Amino acid sequence: MNIQSLSVVVPNKSCVNNCAFCVSKMHCDAYKNQMDDNLPFFDLYLKDYLKRLEFARHNGCNTVMLTGNSEPQQNRKFLTYFGLFMQMMRDPFQWIEMQTTGVLLDANYLRFLRNHVGVNLISLSVSAPEDMDNLQIIGVPGGAPFHLAALCQEIKKYDFSLRLSVNLTKAFDEFQGQEERFFQWAKGLGADQVTCRVLYSDGGDSEQAKWIQNNAAAQETVQGIANYVMLKGKPLGVLPYGATKYSLHGMAVVVDDDCMAKGKLPDEEKDAYKYLILQPDCKLYSQWDDPASLIF
Ligand code: SF4
Repeated sequence: MNIQSLSVVVPNKSCVNNCAFCVSKMHCDAYKNQMDDNLPFFDLYLKDYLKRLEFARHNGCNTVMLTGNSEPQQNRKFLTYFGLFMQMMRDPFQWIEMQTTGVLLDANYLRFLRNHVGVNLISLSVSAPEDMDNLQIIGVPGGAPFHLAALCQEIKKYDFSLRLSVNLTKAFDEFQGQEERFFQWAKGLGADQVTCRVLYSDGGDSEQAKWIQNNAAAQETVQGIANYVMLKGKPLGVLPYGATKYSLHGMAVVVDDDCMAKGKLPDEEKDAYKYLILQPDCKLYSQWDDPASLIF
């Protein structure tokens, strides 16, 4: 088994945000949280957890993504344990990413992530270029101060790599026909990488699906960005799921959409690719939200 990346689900009871398009926060505690030091068998589960981390590491995995159905930074105690695990492992993970909207992150927290947890890349989900619109879409708890540009500056001050994971809402239609300005905006924030995520509705009548139908970026905006990247960018390689990564204005850019030409993976690479998910029940799965995908 050749595991290319491990997603670590940081346990939390619920997400502090309320993103308009979120479907995952409903499943926050679908897996029992055994990483709780108040539980009687915590010592056993610690060993189980370490065993799963070692398993992924022994099978060629060097990348961890701290993520989940909430904000990882909501559980500082777990992140403290995770940092200790890295110090306890004989051959720890070198490449640790964290996926977040950035709420609750300040200079002190960033220092802790960098120095103790060992995070080296922060992937920031951004749903609108203007802070007020972004906050409204994310549903940030009232009064929490949040300034994207200032946060990006702090992230760069601690020398993290910065990925902007741009959710292409209609707020980005302002860049339609002005793709260069869009990438200058990202560059201005200090991004090393930009991933543009196209929002798809499943056509159902859930609140989230309806929100996406009414608030996704126009097809012209998406196509304009995709065309610009293919025309001006230099291909850097093909990602495991088939999207091409381009070098553009000194940033690595991926547009995650069907309108992009997808690179063809050699068959043996297709077979080799695996990503695993370590849930708070201390077990490894190969798929999100499907207990049947249990590995061990
Ligand atoms: S931060 Fe993530 S889990 Fe939380 S509400 Fe937003 S999309 Fe959902």
